[in-house]
Amino acid sequence: MNKIEHIGIAVKNLEESNTLFGKLFGKPHYKVETVESEGVNTSFFKVGDNKIELLEATKDDSPIAKFIERKGEGIHHIAFDVTDIEAEILRLKGEGFIVLNDKPKRGADNKLVAFLHPKSSNGVLIELCQEIKDR
Ligand code: ZN
Repeated sequence: MNKIEHIGIAVKNLEESNTLFGKLFGKPHYKVETVESEGVNTSFFKVGDNKIELLEATKDDSPIAKFIERKGEGIHHIAFDVTDIEAEILRLKGEGFIVLNDKPKRGADNKLVAFLHPKSSNGVLIELCQEIKDR
């Protein structure tokens, strides 16, 4: 793994949270994106070299809706940048981690993503992401 790519925060209302985090960071979010397959609206903030992703559910059975129901708003996942996501999935499986996606899927922000189940990583949902390079 190369570095933390972003930290994901689950919120109930993206518009309100965009305003709140805009005040916190002293600048607005730079992009908003819906990932239909995941049932989320996302927005991204840049803070120095780091990125913060806010996630709002688009439907009641979205993983984000379920997370907020169980735990409330707050830090949802930590995403790590990887160079070769398929190799990393195999490596982590070999190490005994539960990988939720056998095949990486398309996530927000032009990334291929895969998630590790939090029960195999001390309660932390880990996202692997690899930038999709245009060929
Ligand atoms: Zn993420």
